[in-house]
Amino acid sequence: MTIAAAAKGATRKSEVTRYQMYINGKFTDAESGKTFEVYDPATEGIIATCPAGGPEDVDRAAQAAHRAFYEGWKGTTAQERGRILFRLAERIRARRAELAELETINSGKPIVEAEYDMDDTATCYEYYGGLATKINGEVLPVPADAIAFAMREPIGVAGQIIPWNYPLLMAAWKIAPAIAAGCTVVIKPAEQTPLTLLKLAEDFEAVGLPPGVVNVVTGDGPGAGAPLVAHSLVRKIAFTGSAEVGKLIMRSAADQLKRVSLELGGKSPNIFFSDADFESAVDGALFGTFINQGEVCSAGSRVLVQRDIYTKFVDAAAAKAKTIKLGRGLDRETKMGPLVSSEQRDRVAGYLEVGRGEAKVAAGGGRPKEFDKGWYVEPTIFYDVDNSARVAQEEIFGPVMSVIPFTDEADAIRIANASQYGLAAAVWTRDIFKAFRVVKSLEAGIVWVNHMQPTFVEAPWGGYKASGFGRELGHWGVEEYLETKQVFINLDEKPIGWY
Ligand code: NAP
Ligand code: MG
Repeated sequence: MTIAAAAKGATRKSEVTRYQMYINGKFTDAESGKTFEVYDPATEGIIATCPAGGPEDVDRAAQAAHRAFYEGWKGTTAQERGRILFRLAERIRARRAELAELETINSGKPIVEAEYDMDDTATCYEYYGGLATKINGEVLPVPADAIAFAMREPIGVAGQIIPWNYPLLMAAWKIAPAIAAGCTVVIKPAEQTPLTLLKLAEDFEAVGLPPGVVNVVTGDGPGAGAPLVAHSLVRKIAFTGSAEVGKLIMRSAADQLKRVSLELGGKSPNIFFSDADFESAVDGALFGTFINQGEVCSAGSRVLVQRDIYTKFVDAAAAKAKTIKLGRGLDRETKMGPLVSSEQRDRVAGYLEVGRGEAKVAAGGGRPKEFDKGWYVEPTIFYDVDNSARVAQEEIFGPVMSVIPFTDEADAIRIANASQYGLAAAVWTRDIFKAFRVVKSLEAGIVWVNHMQPTFVEAPWGGYKASGFGRELGHWGVEEYLETKQVFINLDEKPIGWY
């Protein structure tokens, strides 16, 4: 089948590319022979097919990962693993343009953002390449004639399940620390966005990853994700996605007391005090909510504004939101692309209807008229939102901001923490005392002051409350893939003398 690949410009035609998954060092179809279709959200056209992996394919991958772990990988040195990660980073930098373009075509996100993602992806592999040689144990001063220490060892086969919003970057957040730790991996990308990871897998062998060390199984959650969680050779599951699926995973993993780390959703408060720099504040509210079409786990979608600047703030934010340029991600001027799928567009559109009943609309509120194709939603600002409203409590995962007024510091903290989630939060003020008081009071795993969203591989990422547990990035990220072994070496040759 040939489709006019509008995503690549009207003059270029492209075939629907047939992708295969990557198991035991080889590209392969599903054993069932089944495939699923992958779309360009800007054109709604089919751009690729991928194998619809099932339990048999997960089993092949888990067996391969298990063999690879016990038949060699476990014995590799940290330096070797580090060098592999550095080489992978180099390949990503060399293929930046190609991978960024594919990420944009597949996910809808603006190309400029996809390019940042590729840079962050490479940096993540570099960081863990360096960290591989810094995974140290500890010597412990036990009260005995002995040497006691704690060793760190890889868990074994890690199963990893990721979402569609930052496809190649989310894969890096999981693969890089697992490899640094000495684990082997079976990873399932989201069915909407498997392409960039499969493209990168073309380089796995060349950078020195032996067969079976990193396996990519494509398919949907119930078909490929659930059997991965249930597989007896998989020792740990690292999951990023919705709280709903996170609960399913935890229940299933309980059967084998499998280790689990969960990076789930959020409804993060972005708090603006009246003494904040006004222009930066308005910018920060928009950036915090609308980056990546609002398909961001840490989106600052609950905007809390102090009463004395509230009206001016809503007006300024709405005026600016209306100037955000929507369009195909491949256009460099585009600031917001389409949502990832028709399903996600419909979900967000459903919330727009809910919000229109719960609050007032300052900007957007519907689907833009200027596109006859593409899963677009207008950047939307609801205001006079009560914090108990559905659009203030439920994660929408789209370009929808709920503005909530507050009176004073105590009121802001109370509203901010009144959420089942606790992923991220931000506070904007010029008063350093107030800033730190609020930072200490917020129940969130990530807190920004006078900014929202900057994310660095050196710093821990993860949530409080229903936003999950475990931490990615930094040295915390590698901890999730390590066991701790206590060792005691007796130096006293006398009999113990008990019996
Ligand atoms: P999702 O529906 O929970 O899916 C996430 C992944 O889980 C996908 O690969 C999905 O497969 C798979 N899955 C679905 N059902 C499963 C099951 N029964 N067993 C095993 N795996 C299963 O989330 P999403 O819609 O892709 O992504 C949006 C969510 O991710 C939001 O809630 C967002 O906040 C969260 N997120 C969190 C972070 C963070 O760092 N905290 C980062 C990004 C996103 P298929 O989709 O292929 O069926
Ligand atoms: Mg899904």
